Amino acid sequence: MVTQIVFSDEFNKHNTANHPENADRLYVLLDALKKAPFYKTLVFLKPKLLPESLLYEVHSAEMIQRVKEISEYGDSWIDLDTYVCKSDYETARLAAGGVALACRNIVNGDASNAFALVRPPGHHASAERSMGFCLFNNAGLAAHESSKKGKRVLIFDHDVHHGNGTQSIFYRRNDVMYQSFHLSPHYPGTGDTDEIGEGEGKGYTINAPLVYGQGDGAVSQVIDEIFIPITRQYKPHLVIISVGYDSHHSDQLGGLKLSANFFGEIIRRFKAVQSKIVCTLEGGYNFQWIGKCFLSQLGQMMSHPLSFDDLTEGNDDVTSLIKKMKKELGEYWDL
Ligand SMILES: [Zn+2]
Repeated sequence: MVTQIVFSDEFNKHNTANHPENADRLYVLLDALKKAPFYKTLVFLKPKLLPESLLYEVHSAEMIQRVKEISEYGDSWIDLDTYVCKSDYETARLAAGGVALACRNIVNGDASNAFALVRPPGHHASAERSMGFCLFNNAGLAAHESSKKGKRVLIFDHDVHHGNGTQSIFYRRNDVMYQSFHLSPHYPGTGDTDEIGEGEGKGYTINAPLVYGQGDGAVSQVIDEIFIPITRQYKPHLVIISVGYDSHHSDQLGGLKLSANFFGEIIRRFKAVQSKIVCTLEGGYNFQWIGKCFLSQLGQMMSHPLSFDDLTEGNDDVTSLIKKMKKELGEYWDL
């Protein structure tokens, strides 16, 4: 069984110089990949456009139309920090289509796991709004498609920013669980412990807001005491990981202190519960480090662990956070 990498040069039509979310990000990751000891055993796949019908099941017609219209001309901005290039309607659908393809393959057993190297990212895009560098919600669209086939899906989001878009899409649903740790307070301002879902979705949104400077030790405790126990009880058929290397200690848009090796450790712990894992790229902007974070994760996915010289010290105190999370979620899960 193999690990698949979904990639297309087409993603890099979405590019603006001097913006942190630019085309060089994927090239930095590909360069790192080419030097990996397992490079030759990876299987590369070309993504396909996400069907419009699926797009309309998750996003509003007004939002889709807006992206479509702006992308006809390109060279514009849909909000203060989210640019739109010519043909982005297709590029963004290709990114979502790439994640959906990876999820289909993994659910069908065509490969062990997959990493979708896609852009633009998706986790800030809600049902009604493109924002925060994101046009359509790649992970959300893929999770929705898998769920339609009767699969329980967990989206685990380790980007330094809260995935407000993904959370809001599934807030009233129990077929897709959303788990996130993130820096708080920080953009976009959501993701408090009491945001646990509504109606049928109550207990299916799990938020761990961390404070500035927290790192491996803090996240490790929350994973062991909250995220993994809930995942074991939820029993997902598929785990989609919204990958954000902006939670690494070096990141210019971050404030958490994760080490490169810890990103692999996250994969290792979830893989022990459900090995069907699809990673999709969200944030991560420090070009000295994102390649190492990426290889650390791929090493665990391929059962060929790699270790990097990267020590950080963070504030490990999450006692009150874990207490709060148990109080909010204890009614729904055995914690
Ligand atoms: Zn981010």
